[in-house]
Amino acid sequence: MSYFEKVRVRIAPSPTGDPHVGTAYVALFNYVYAKKYGGDFLLRIEDTDQVRAKSSSEAMIMKSLSWLGLQWDEGPDRGGPCGPYRQSERTAIYREHSDMLLKSGHAYRCFCSAERLDAVRAKQREAGVTTAYDRHCRELSAADVEGNISKGQPFVTRLKMPVSGVTSFVDEIRGVVEIENSRMDDQVLLKSDGYPTYHLANVVDDHLMKISHVIRAEEWINSTPKHVVLYDAFGWEKPKFAHLPLLRNADKSKISKRKNPVALTYYQRAGILPVTLMNFLANMGWSFGNDVEFFSIDDMMKKFEFKDIHLGGPVFDTVKLTWMNAHYMHKMSEDQFIRFVREEIFTEDYLRALKPFVLERMTRFEQFVDNNAFFFNGTLDYRGVEIVPKGKTPADIMGMLSGLVERLDDLYEWEHERLKAVIEAYKDEIAWKPKDIFMTLRLVVTGRKDSPPLFESMELIGREMVRFRMRDCVQKLSTETSTEG
Ligand code: GLU
Repeated sequence: MSYFEKVRVRIAPSPTGDPHVGTAYVALFNYVYAKKYGGDFLLRIEDTDQVRAKSSSEAMIMKSLSWLGLQWDEGPDRGGPCGPYRQSERTAIYREHSDMLLKSGHAYRCFCSAERLDAVRAKQREAGVTTAYDRHCRELSAADVEGNISKGQPFVTRLKMPVSGVTSFVDEIRGVVEIENSRMDDQVLLKSDGYPTYHLANVVDDHLMKISHVIRAEEWINSTPKHVVLYDAFGWEKPKFAHLPLLRNADKSKISKRKNPVALTYYQRAGILPVTLMNFLANMGWSFGNDVEFFSIDDMMKKFEFKDIHLGGPVFDTVKLTWMNAHYMHKMSEDQFIRFVREEIFTEDYLRALKPFVLERMTRFEQFVDNNAFFFNGTLDYRGVEIVPKGKTPADIMGMLSGLVERLDDLYEWEHERLKAVIEAYKDEIAWKPKDIFMTLRLVVTGRKDSPPLFESMELIGREMVRFRMRDCVQKLSTETSTEG
């Protein structure tokens, strides 16, 4: 009898930034697969990277997935029989499993210092060979190990990889994938601070949460052979694996925020309907057949099979996305339209926040829409070169904006005092005059010289649209200067 009683799938995002369209894409395919077979769809938060994990990011992931209607059956907020669903709350479980492998001889303690490992790698680079751990501690005697432990020497736990032969697994989309064991390193499972690596935590959790199908992005395919070795070391039945093709920019590079927005929160703010984004993502790498592009997720469930996924590298084409959105917008009923405008655009909360800044700039209400368009718009209509202050070049502005937007990417508490602190610190760092940086930003963010106070305006316009407008201005300047220069 199989260990897996039913279809159970999961997404396992690391909460390290804005909720990514790639997460929604993988979530959609997992969701469809689970629901097609009456199975469960889990949300597990992989937050063992204590330096990078952020609770605001976790909250945004959940909000964005809910916005799309990708409701998980078990997760940190809903609980379930296999919790906790946040890896940082499961560290004792990983230590216990690491100990199991030490006992069974499938893993060993490695006491090598960072300096020694650096020296080994440097030597390997010099010799022109692939860098890998030289397995120095793999055959230490029990006495040496005990000695080191009693001296309080820190150690990591490493997996004893097979040294010869091949490891293989079946990918539901690609077929058999094989790798020579000699090309695999003795993977670290538990770090010296007692925290697990991705590999150990991921496999232990997938097993304990009875995940029957691991459906994830292609970028993890190189980890799967290590996972296969781990499953075997524990003596566990393996799930099925399917690696979805990565979403790409039009130039086929991996999608990145420098080329196009990748945050789900941006697309929500930009007025893309959830139904559009789901339908659009469903067309990435998979097709309904007969050139049908518009279909519901329920219809997708009926037809979906892994074998119909093509590996060509689906392009996340925002022009196409917008075109699809128009289709769904035009089909909205009167009620849907009214609800959308009230719940997404002229919301009560937004109007309350705007009130102190908008009334004093008007004498008649007929001015409301024109005066305040920049609080609601997406891209603003101006020529980049027109906003360049005297004494600065377009390249200066592009550099300033690109540097600042990276800082703002890390600012999750989007509040005017915090914005002020970050922007002033940045101004001092790059030694710009207040006038140059603040007036430029005002123009980039609001399109006007006479907007309400800058930091308050940035707070109100919101994190997504401010960052978008800054990147959009860099794009504008780049196009204008390359075609005119
Ligand atoms: N934490 C990994 C991620 O951020 C999970 C990959 C997987 O699904 O195994 O995508």
